[in-house]
Amino acid sequence: MTNNTELFTKAKQLMPGGVSSPVRAFKSVGGTPRFIKSGQGSAIYDEEGHRYIDFIGSWGPLILGHAHPKIVKAIQETAARGTSFGAPTAKETMLAQDIVDFVPSIEKVRFVNSGTEATMSALRLARGFTGRKEIVKFAGCYHGHSDGLLIKAGSGATTLGVPDSAGVPAEITQLTVPAVFNDPEGLETIFKQRGESIAAVIIEPVAGNMGVIPPAPGFLEKTRDLCSHYGSLLIFDEVMSGFRVDRGGAQELYGVTPDLTCLGKIIGGGLPVGAYGGKNEIMEFVAPAGPVYQAGTLSGNPLAITAGHETLKIINTPGFYEKLEQKILLFDQALLPEIKKHKWKLCFQRVGSMATLFFRAGPVNTYTDALQADTTLFKKFHQYLLKEGIYFPPSQFEAFFISAAHTTAEIEKTIEILLDYCYKNY
Ligand SMILES: *Cc1c(COP(=O)(O)O)cnc(C)c1O
Repeated sequence: MTNNTELFTKAKQLMPGGVSSPVRAFKSVGGTPRFIKSGQGSAIYDEEGHRYIDFIGSWGPLILGHAHPKIVKAIQETAARGTSFGAPTAKETMLAQDIVDFVPSIEKVRFVNSGTEATMSALRLARGFTGRKEIVKFAGCYHGHSDGLLIKAGSGATTLGVPDSAGVPAEITQLTVPAVFNDPEGLETIFKQRGESIAAVIIEPVAGNMGVIPPAPGFLEKTRDLCSHYGSLLIFDEVMSGFRVDRGGAQELYGVTPDLTCLGKIIGGGLPVGAYGGKNEIMEFVAPAGPVYQAGTLSGNPLAITAGHETLKIINTPGFYEKLEQKILLFDQALLPEIKKHKWKLCFQRVGSMATLFFRAGPVNTYTDALQADTTLFKKFHQYLLKEGIYFPPSQFEAFFISAAHTTAEIEKTIEILLDYCYKNY
């Protein structure tokens, strides 16, 4: 079977929606998902032999591109010595050292297997540490799929959370207080009403899961101040932005230091991983040092840890982020003047090497803004790009990424195709 349609039909018989994670099913853009056979550098190849320039990069982890020779070699050598021991390894300490060196807020770190686990555990820790129950979450921010974080966006800041998924009891999400991204006054109101019961505020410091929305000037600072004032912990979910927008993540880029940070994606070099870390006094609450229980059979497994460590080594070469930025800047330089000139209802937003082209006039500052994008136009756009061999996220509300493997020529070609679409459709 080498045909995407046949593969999808068979997959749907055996797996819900035919996929292991919902967005992969192409539901919002239509058409058949591509079944990917291999990847090399900036390109992926489907089972039918088509080549695509990949701007998803496995949804963020592949900042070095696919099958980077050094990462592959390190994984092979490690695998040959055993894939998991359920015991400490020297490699974990090495990756922990990298993370502590690079991420300003982290003095101590715990490895887990996904971003979901990282945020779920960080919240448990925040509750254990503060002895409080409530958490604040911003509409449109995604923090993985644990129960308490699946709350519907958009309800007023004074209403308690309503579950976003079947199977999540309202009793659980009642402890999650929704807030509006980039609305410092709204957050202040929440704190004035219930500051003493808030264990933590969790936020994507650069929102990436409603499309890329940078924090408005002063917003992260205000959030930091409110947390400090009320004795609540500030948790930066940098699963996407960590090692992406800068070596030290958004906290380095914006100079705002949270109490706890969640990581994932890039620190696993393409293998399943997550981590949470922060101030020593807080992390010492985690078992076995402290009373907050959290564990994992495959946590810190040598394969993921090695892939992460090798990735961070390469990222830490001088000029790495500058080069990445120079390349993605080509999008800004080509798109922004054209959007302005033709008054297209488009808005390109970018932080470091993550970006979104919103199909609406800008700026996009909140989830409500993002939801006003024209998803029908986006759908056509996605199909057009795919036909031209450009693999973009199959949703308007996702970030696209470039990797160190993308060439200037590939990016220029992509921009040309993208502009072509606009000339034809506006
Ligand atoms: C991807 C992501 C997660 C979830 O990570 P998984 O590894 O998919 O569980 C959590 N938070 C943010 C900000 C993410 O981008």
